[in-house]
Amino acid sequence: MRLHHARLLRSNGLSAPDTFYIAAGDEPDRDARGLVLSPGWMDLHAHLRDPGAPQKETLETGARSAAAGGFTHVVAMANTDPPTDSAGRLTELRRRSEALPIKVDFVGALTKGLTGDSLTDARALKSAGAVALSDDGRHALEAGLLEVGLWRAGGAGLPVLIHPQLERLGTEPAAEVEAIREAIEALRRTADAHLHLQHVSTQGSIGLIAAAKGAGLRLTAEVTPHHLALTAAELRISGPLAKVNPPLRTAADAIALRDALIDGIVDVIATDHAPHEDAVKHDEETAAYGLHGFETALATVLTLGLPWEVVHRACVAGPRRILGQELLDEWILIDPDQEWLVEPESFYSRGHNTPLKGRRMRGRVVMTVVGGKVVHGAEVAVA
Ligand SMILES: [Zn+2]
Repeated sequence: MRLHHARLLRSNGLSAPDTFYIAAGDEPDRDARGLVLSPGWMDLHAHLRDPGAPQKETLETGARSAAAGGFTHVVAMANTDPPTDSAGRLTELRRRSEALPIKVDFVGALTKGLTGDSLTDARALKSAGAVALSDDGRHALEAGLLEVGLWRAGGAGLPVLIHPQLERLGTEPAAEVEAIREAIEALRRTADAHLHLQHVSTQGSIGLIAAAKGAGLRLTAEVTPHHLALTAAELRISGPLAKVNPPLRTAADAIALRDALIDGIVDVIATDHAPHEDAVKHDEETAAYGLHGFETALATVLTLGLPWEVVHRACVAGPRRILGQELLDEWILIDPDQEWLVEPESFYSRGHNTPLKGRRMRGRVVMTVVGGKVVHGAEVAVA
């Protein structure tokens, strides 16, 4: 297939109009005027719930959903059941992922069973193909053990991704700020280590990250589309569907995060895709934490009005740089003007848990191509 007139999203912004050719089977030529051709987005943070919770997601449904959302490469967290805390489990997941339509990589757990008690074998996990270590979903480990964990992961050539939230302080902003302060201190004492902060959500974290980066520490950070675009007021509108950890914060936090992303203090956008079945998202008190991420992320990001070069850095180049991954033959075609209604029943994901349900959004992926194969949107007509 040849695409005519698509604008190309590059690191230096847009060069429009232009003509691009991507090989994709025997599809007829397509006039792609008004569309944006982007290298596939990469999501550093997703929960694919496999093994253990097929009612929420599987590798297959998660990968299909990611493709629909414009992600051609995603990184699955280790808090499955059982958790990915051994080389054997990681090898098995990698074997299964070979059949998926997009690239899926896996992190290994940092501690056995994610309990924060004893470290996993970083070198064995690296040999089995882990791209990082993380206990995401929890932050149970003490600073001393984190320091040793950073040391060993660094020696094995793996970044450590943390869910910065001191469990004894609950979910308040201070729980995040103090966890980040502690983790940066641990990082300062470890050579070769690379620490990545997941889903930074609060203004108070930004200054700490900027200072640590300024001091030359190997620190990177992500923010989610929902923390950039939504605030705690959403809870009054969407109830349990807006329940997420870390929680949605204030408008001032969202603005500070957006500025930090533009300034490069926060490196990337990652979805924290956390699918759940409807039954556990009904009741305010007992609802599970987490939001569906993949299929609404791109529209949410485009709605922020970020410069295209920031979008490229946050969604294409940054995630790959953090994990040392190459951009392969992965493309998405975006219609930045397409308006659509969020109908979770039509998601490819099993998780319909989004506070954006019923909203009109602008911006959609019309095609996803990996290795010359259309993995999403082959039937979509482009005007
Ligand atoms: Zn987390």
